[in-house]
Amino acid sequence: MTDFAHTRSQFHLPDGLVYLDGNSLGPLPVAARARIAGLLDDEWGEMLIRGWNEAGWMAMPEHVGERIGRLIGAGSGTVVTGDTLSIKLYQALAAALDLRTGRRIVLSDHGNFPSDLHMARGLMHTLGRGHELRLVAPEAVTQALDDTVAVLMLTEVDYRTGRLHDMAELTRAAHAAGALTVWDLAHSAGALPVDLEGADADFAVGCTYKFLNGGPGAPAFIYVAPRHIDRVTPVLAGWLGHEAPFAFDLDYRPGPGIARMRVGTPSIPGLAVLDAALEVWEGVSISDVRARSVELSETFIHEVERRCPALELVSPRNAHRRGSQVTWRFAGACSFMQALNDRGVVGDFRPPDMMRFGITPLYLDAGDIMRAARVMETLMTERGWDRSRRTGTMT
Ligand SMILES: *Cc1c(COP(=O)(O)O)cnc(C)c1O
Repeated sequence: MTDFAHTRSQFHLPDGLVYLDGNSLGPLPVAARARIAGLLDDEWGEMLIRGWNEAGWMAMPEHVGERIGRLIGAGSGTVVTGDTLSIKLYQALAAALDLRTGRRIVLSDHGNFPSDLHMARGLMHTLGRGHELRLVAPEAVTQALDDTVAVLMLTEVDYRTGRLHDMAELTRAAHAAGALTVWDLAHSAGALPVDLEGADADFAVGCTYKFLNGGPGAPAFIYVAPRHIDRVTPVLAGWLGHEAPFAFDLDYRPGPGIARMRVGTPSIPGLAVLDAALEVWEGVSISDVRARSVELSETFIHEVERRCPALELVSPRNAHRRGSQVTWRFAGACSFMQALNDRGVVGDFRPPDMMRFGITPLYLDAGDIMRAARVMETLMTERGWDRSRRTGTMT
């Protein structure tokens, strides 16, 4: 059984704050401080250029990728870290399209994050091969799969509503239609059990500053299924994805395995903090995290509905169809959330009228959830959110 009191003690959280925004930026893992100090003083400070080999910096993108792989059902040698999620998505989609050259459609849904769709369009424009992005409602994805679809590109958990796609089922349907899949795990990795191999996913990408607590702008990750990895020609063919970077060869030859998805010089401070953040997961079972997340979310929904009937639940009511967040709709959402933040309960606002609350059992317990519900009730009864709007405290 995962010891959640122990995991909680491994995070720094400001006194008196209930932090329900870990789906956007996870809090500071205490171990990151010593890790960064060690990197600066003992590694960079003393070793200088030797750090790339002697401190293992050069191997960190793969080393950290291995640790993430264990949380998302990916085997050894299939995950590498670096760059940003937007970049990794671009790489994954380009690779997938190259494996389906006869087809022109990229299928996605309205619930996807704008950056994913912008990157996809940018890639299609650059390729100039007549690709098109087809966007449908999340419920209509399966029926939109036909023999024109090259790639099904989806974010498993909707960043606004928390709606959870069935990865195994949709991957099966995509494969049956002859398409490949690119899964975005931004709101899945560290939030719920993911089984990329079990689902037979082709490509997956994700960020690490949300539920993995890797810090602001922490490096992203990319997964490529073993059956594809040696067939993929990287579109961002940087020197560190080369077979022999230090041969300084003028011709590009992709590196062995997942290393070819590396691009340029990795951000070592970013990787070091992320590596420290992943330490928290030692001894933690992701199924326990999921079970606790469902329990806390159910309590939150129950308590808030009872206390604040004006709020409308946007997230799926069925816990099996929901990621690790709860979203409410309310006409005064923006001011309400601002007032809530002022009272020490931090969630966030997404236009036009949504309030999101991330449920993160590693550092949240039932007491936090109850306190958040009580503060929301008080705010609602006192119409405190209205006042905050009048006094112009909104930022
Ligand atoms: C958070 C998020 C992003 C952000 O991408 P970055 O490149 O890290 O800024 C992209 N896609 C989804 C689905 C997200 O949730």
